[in-house]
Amino acid sequence: MTDDCRLLKYVITDCFVIVFLKVFFTEIISNMSKYLYKIILPAFIVIFFPACNQRSNSADKEPSKKTIIIQPFAGFPESETKFIAAELKKLHPDILVKEPIAFPENMMNAAKTRYRADSLIRFLKSRTKDDYITIGLTKNDISTTKGKYADWGVFGLGYCPGKSCIVSLYRLKGNNKREKLFKVVIHELGHTEGLPHCPCNTCYMRDAEGKDRLNSLTHFCPDCRKTLTHAGWVLE
Ligand SMILES: [Zn+2]
Ligand SMILES: [Zn+2]
Repeated sequence: MTDDCRLLKYVITDCFVIVFLKVFFTEIISNMSKYLYKIILPAFIVIFFPACNQRSNSADKEPSKKTIIIQPFAGFPESETKFIAAELKKLHPDILVKEPIAFPENMMNAAKTRYRADSLIRFLKSRTKDDYITIGLTKNDISTTKGKYADWGVFGLGYCPGKSCIVSLYRLKGNNKREKLFKVVIHELGHTEGLPHCPCNTCYMRDAEGKDRLNSLTHFCPDCRKTLTHAGWVLE
């Protein structure tokens, strides 16, 4: 073979390699979307999906954003405070019980027969920091203005939503006063968590409308339960 022939052979070989590489890379680039779909996307899912999953799990188990303070007023039975605290702890992870306090001045109606519930929740709100809810407990009668009634006696009253509510033992009758008291407690706390009155006849958030319907209330309905669960309550 002559030198010229050998040179020609190298040129042909080089051309062949260049053409091969060009075809190879053209193929890779033109099929990039296929590789992206088949390799990169599954890798992305494998890397990020467990993280999303974890975030959603931790959101489900997210601790309550609020702490509930139980604040008895002077004269409220200690046994009932303990009962309410024990029952609430089953439904909410953060409960604090405070020592009883005296009623502040100027909280009664004009006739001095009842404490004004709206004044009491305003007073409790002024003592409550952010991320806390205070529930006041009293054995005395409490009232608020309801429509044409300037001084309407109530079981309880709460901001909706808000930082405070009050519950009275005074108007509860029957041999299951304790259970009724607790239903009023969770009703008023439901208001502070933003729940309005509920049309469900058996839901704890049903409006009393001046009657004692507490025996017919058996649970939080699914809608009310959803709101409370989101707020950190632990409901079965
Ligand atoms: Zn209510
Ligand atoms: Zn409801």
